[in-house]
Amino acid sequence: MAYIILALAAGWLLSLFRAKLPVWTGAFALILGLWTFFSGRYTGIWWLAWLLFLAAAAIANVAGLRRSLLMKPILAMFRRMLPPLSRTEREALEAGTVGWDGELFSGNPDWEKLLAEPQPELTTDEQAFLTGPAEELCRMLDDWRIVSELRDLSPEVWRFLKEQGFFGMIIPEEYGGKGFSASAHSQVILKIASRSIAAAVTVMVPNSLGPAELLLRYGTEAQREYYLPRLARGEEVPCFALTGPEAGSDAASIPDSGLVCRGTFEGKEIVGIRLNWEKRYITLGPVATVIGLAFRLADPDHLIGSQDEPGITLALVPAATPGITIGSRHDPLGVPFQNGPNRGKDVFIPLDWLIGGKAGAGQGWRMLMESLASGRSISLPALSCGGAKFTARAAGAYARVRRQFRLPIGRFEGVEEALARIAGSTYLIDAARAITCSAVDRGERPSVLSAIVKYHSTERMRQVVDDGMDVMGGSGISLGPRNLLGRIYQAAPIGITVEGANILTRSMIIFGQGAIRCHPYVLKEMQAAANPDGIRALADFDRLLGEHIGFTLNNAARALFLGVTGGRLAKAPIGPARRYFQTVTRMSAAFALAADVTLLTLGGTLKRREKLSGRLADILSHLYLASALLKQFEDRQWPADELPLVRWGCEESFHLIQESFTGIIHNLPFRPAAWLLRLVVFPLGRPFAGPSDRLGRQIAAILLEPSPLRDRLTAGLFIPEDPAEPLARLEDALAKVIAAEPVEQKLREAVKAGKVRKGTDGEVVAAGMEAGIITGDEADLLRQALEARSEATRVDDFPQL
Ligand SMILES: Cc1cc2nc3c(=O)[nH]c(=O)nc-3n(C[C@H](O)[C@H](O)[C@H](O)COP(=O)(O)OP(=O)(O)OC[C@H]3O[C@@H](n4cnc5c(N)ncnc54)[C@H](O)[C@@H]3O)c2cc1C
Repeated sequence: MAYIILALAAGWLLSLFRAKLPVWTGAFALILGLWTFFSGRYTGIWWLAWLLFLAAAAIANVAGLRRSLLMKPILAMFRRMLPPLSRTEREALEAGTVGWDGELFSGNPDWEKLLAEPQPELTTDEQAFLTGPAEELCRMLDDWRIVSELRDLSPEVWRFLKEQGFFGMIIPEEYGGKGFSASAHSQVILKIASRSIAAAVTVMVPNSLGPAELLLRYGTEAQREYYLPRLARGEEVPCFALTGPEAGSDAASIPDSGLVCRGTFEGKEIVGIRLNWEKRYITLGPVATVIGLAFRLADPDHLIGSQDEPGITLALVPAATPGITIGSRHDPLGVPFQNGPNRGKDVFIPLDWLIGGKAGAGQGWRMLMESLASGRSISLPALSCGGAKFTARAAGAYARVRRQFRLPIGRFEGVEEALARIAGSTYLIDAARAITCSAVDRGERPSVLSAIVKYHSTERMRQVVDDGMDVMGGSGISLGPRNLLGRIYQAAPIGITVEGANILTRSMIIFGQGAIRCHPYVLKEMQAAANPDGIRALADFDRLLGEHIGFTLNNAARALFLGVTGGRLAKAPIGPARRYFQTVTRMSAAFALAADVTLLTLGGTLKRREKLSGRLADILSHLYLASALLKQFEDRQWPADELPLVRWGCEESFHLIQESFTGIIHNLPFRPAAWLLRLVVFPLGRPFAGPSDRLGRQIAAILLEPSPLRDRLTAGLFIPEDPAEPLARLEDALAKVIAAEPVEQKLREAVKAGKVRKGTDGEVVAAGMEAGIITGDEADLLRQALEARSEATRVDDFPQL
């Protein structure tokens, strides 16, 4: 037993230090030697043990033997296990860049690298746009009128958007656009979303995945010179049409066709493309002047190349081209941004309408996947963050102003729980939004991280607004000009569904793509296995698999070590959040191990095991979200008042990570692997209980009164000054109610002591003044607060609807 323990300890130490194979061989030879020597009996069993050991050592250490006896069959098995990848899957996997997600997959994230990344900063022009045209636009937006009367933005707003360049934020200045950074673009969307979701979506789409983005990356110079200035000036309204009745989430299966053929265009016979399509759900489609169209190109007569079917291709087609039917609208949950179907019947276009010209034929899917990574990092996270910040500001103020059972409702623990989630999630979404945008600004195209931030910001926003609605009770439900949250609540599922519906994003993209894209070895092993040169393939595979085994063993040893020590010895920046950095490192090692164990035991079938890959996606996501919180906290140089928000976010993430691990351990089909995981990941039990009630109370309190921290948490919103605006009314009531609270307290005590008779608020104020309990000024203060409260909590009613 002692020698077995010694062997296990040696294995653990060698794994921890990633010892080379000869060192392993030497160490085990030594242990076996000691064991043989001290056993004192040189019987046949020892000869057999030595024989087996020497054979194993020879196979492991002699490259020729190892490759032919071990690696060859493993490579053959690996090739069989690999799920066949279609061209579109391969292009999706190859798109985008790997950043912090790669570090998390490594099991040993390099914090110095993350902390050295520059903080997002806006230029003077970007700042001026936010405080100028963006604020001006918000003042012009009357969401109730947009939703209930116009069912569209007003003509003045459309004009303003075009004239002020809102549709050209991503277009460089040389083409007449604003040339804004992703961070600035995100701030503009965030601000508008806090005022009108319909307006935010309208601004979002031309700046997201669509004609401008595609032309910038892949257009010909002639296309850029023609379209970009027109798009920047708003002379062209773009849309991008990919989805159709049969192809939603599985967008690569679009049936829409483009046939390369001869035809007549503007009176001349040319080689062009005959298009037939049916699309739906297309944002800005009904008012678009130019359609970015995705279709499947076929060239059976080889008029433009040697391929029969070049594949998915993109074109820019003016909406007025004969054969196009456009204009009718869908009604997306009552949020009236322009969205509708469009169709094309035998629409003949010239080849130079293809994005990138003839060279762009068949390149459409790659173009889309590469562009998606940046668009997905910006628009929906900004929209969600705007909605969450607005909810935090409004629901918090309402919870202080609104009284039931003679107390502000925010003082009840049940409401406090909801407020804590609102504050904590809002802070979290904002940190993830900012860090992801700054990665885009550094030139990254984060394919996996953008999926994480899209998924979690939209899900958190849905949860925040659900909580906000609960806090606001009937006043959240009764729609009308006074309603604050109803429209955000209605819009929440839209963000969940677009740019990759969330269920699919969680279960197929975040881990599914991440495991291949961000894992230090899997993609390289797949590429090695696919190499048609058998000798090269075997040599590369042999080297990579050896390194991969060392990596997995190292993560297992580190996860156990960090588990036993609670991560205390992990390398991490010094400061008040040090323990959280260490916990991310600990769980990252555990995640890297779990990823390998799952890949090894499930192989290609993991693609179908979405519940397991969804849980792995959650772990990766929460590691990223906690990293974003820590990065922001360090960048801001540890503001003490923000520490409770950082703690709440990290502790909740660690708890959710633990829940996901528990789910994986319970459900992994190969039970010995699950037992091993449990032992290594949680050697001393499950340590993460989530944020305490006390911490929840601390962060809920941030929302209940004006403070610099409340302003920072909700920074970037449009805060109206017009007292007729519902948010302005609520802010006014919040200040007055807080100012009058000491007076109210005096009166309450006087009533309790029997010095003032019970009655309505007005009667008690009058009686209190008469009894000399409060002064005339205090009575005025209280009356103003009562009036402001009653105004702020009133709801709309209408003549018979
Ligand atoms: C308001 C709005 C605006 C839009 N704007 C545009 C636009 O401008 N341009 C454009 O081209 N498209 C647009 N879309 C389309 C949008 O991208 C699609 O709705 C989306 O891709 C989902 O397709 P679907 O609605 O057909 O749902 P489906 O594909 O039918 O999916 C339904 C559900 O099944 C889940 N699901 C599907 N497959 C899987 C899987 N393999 N694993 C797990 N879950 C799965 C999905 O996650 C989803 O929850 C818009 C849609 C809406 C509603």
